[in-house]
Amino acid sequence: TYFSELGLAEPILKALAASDYSEPTPIQRQAIPALLEGRDLCGIAQTGTGKTAAFTLPSLHHLANNVVPVPEKGCRMLILSPTRELAAQIAENVRKYGRNLKFNVQCVFGGMPIYSQKKKLARGVDVLVATPGRLIDLIDQGAFHLNGVEIFVLDEADQMMDMGFIHSLKQIDKMLPKQRQSLFFSATMPKAIEELGRRFLNNPVRVAV
Ligand code: AMP
Repeated sequence: TYFSELGLAEPILKALAASDYSEPTPIQRQAIPALLEGRDLCGIAQTGTGKTAAFTLPSLHHLANNVVPVPEKGCRMLILSPTRELAAQIAENVRKYGRNLKFNVQCVFGGMPIYSQKKKLARGVDVLVATPGRLIDLIDQGAFHLNGVEIFVLDEADQMMDMGFIHSLKQIDKMLPKQRQSLFFSATMPKAIEELGRRFLNNPVRVAV
């Protein structure tokens, strides 16, 4: 299989050609067609499998093919990550794969001044990568909302639970629009994680790599 056979838009394929990926990884082969159809996805996958591209490429395709203005103080795609390192890495990847699209991609996490983050988000962004605690702080302070979210990604769900983010995730779940696409990834899928996933997902395609 080649990336060009998966149905991704030309600017995205061009960005991939500039990276040195020759073909999609197993999770990319399995997830991308289902995500392009708009399905929800529950993925059991570890870091290193290529899962970031698996959720980013079809999402960028959707955003590029359905042009709507970004909501003020909101975003079209929300990616939650448990740690700042991982969040920054995801944002870097989204920018790389989206280099031929004019998207505003921002990343926010705790331990940084919130004031400058508020300014970055004021006009709205296409893609926001965030850690749950800082996202809630921004929402509580009236600097952000989740009303315009079309695609929601929860990455590293098991690590989120280990770090005590369950309450924040339940709060975020309540604020997300009902009508949206949801993607849920975890390295392991014990019962508690499976249940957390059920909150967010609607008839998901399941992928394990
Ligand atoms: P991830 O599992 O998303 O953290 O990705 C792990 C690493 O694999 C990253 O450094 C990616 O740049 C790289 N990668 C992702 N997709 C591919 C691919 N199709 N071919 C080769 N490398 C890839």
